[in-house]
Amino acid sequence: MNNILNKIKGSFYGSAIGDGLGYTTEFLNMDQIYNRFGINGLTEPVGNPIQVTDDTQMAIAVGKSLMDCYKKDATINFSNFENALRTRYIEWYNDPENNRAPGNTCLKACENLERGITWTEATLKNSKGCGANMRVHPVAYFKFKNNNITNADIAKWAQFQSAMTHAHPTALAAADLTAMTVVKLIEGVSSDDILEELIEYAHSQMHIYHEDFLENVWERPVVFNSKEFIERGWKECILSLEKVKTAIAKNDKSSDPCIYTGEGWIAEEAFATGLLCFLYYPNKPIAVLRRAANSSGDSDSIACLAGSFAGAYCGIDELPNDWVNRIEYQNEMNEFIDFLNLEK
Ligand SMILES: [Mg+2]
Repeated sequence: MNNILNKIKGSFYGSAIGDGLGYTTEFLNMDQIYNRFGINGLTEPVGNPIQVTDDTQMAIAVGKSLMDCYKKDATINFSNFENALRTRYIEWYNDPENNRAPGNTCLKACENLERGITWTEATLKNSKGCGANMRVHPVAYFKFKNNNITNADIAKWAQFQSAMTHAHPTALAAADLTAMTVVKLIEGVSSDDILEELIEYAHSQMHIYHEDFLENVWERPVVFNSKEFIERGWKECILSLEKVKTAIAKNDKSSDPCIYTGEGWIAEEAFATGLLCFLYYPNKPIAVLRRAANSSGDSDSIACLAGSFAGAYCGIDELPNDWVNRIEYQNEMNEFIDFLNLEK
């Protein structure tokens, strides 16, 4: 298996395994986790198959949308992508398996999309729940589909798949930042350099509003223009990246990571806490997944993000075979990975 393929597979499976591991601990605080699972917390995913949640189901929906579009038009134009996302989000919304503690923002936005109104009316403009960055990683993998796809494409697709349900500027920026983290880790940026590169990236994007996809979704009371709108999102993400930096310096790996970077119910916190768990143990994906799942906050999304980073860095071979073989939705993940056609 080539290196890029190995890392993409590691990231997709790592995210699903994190999601499955964190599903067990999502609504438990640290005392409840220790009482139930002992002093080391939860160390193994439960069940066969290991059940995942809406995080993985929706990531698969985003992946299917990209495949639908690419088959029609390799440039992924706005109208095809809007159509494909609408169809796949609604399909997820009505799926009988959509019973894994789905987020309210996604449910409400999908209900609106199904009514056939425009996406800018259907979305929840003030939501920055983590529901849009927990599902963005397939956009990052698409960077490797062909050489014509640029980081600017990844940025606008990542933000747009968020904007259709979560249109708060921080949800958009955090989805973009999450996708770019995965891209950089697959490309081989070292764990020592990634944080500074992401801070630099966030500053570089501060005034870039992707109007060809985002249309006028920025419009709302007390926001005067699109640049000011997106700047608000990047500023909140930069504050979260600074918190990760402070936490890494402190290196208190034995405490709940949410103490340092937040509980992760909102986008920039889920991103930051997932990244912190990865940076604690960059070469030990099992330790990353355990640290992320044993957290007081939105543990499935934190571990999903942490797993996508750890897998992108280390590759599929570093994940336990037994966990990989037991995870749900393997056919769907493999279909997407095969579509990238990287086996050359
Ligand atoms: Mg979930």
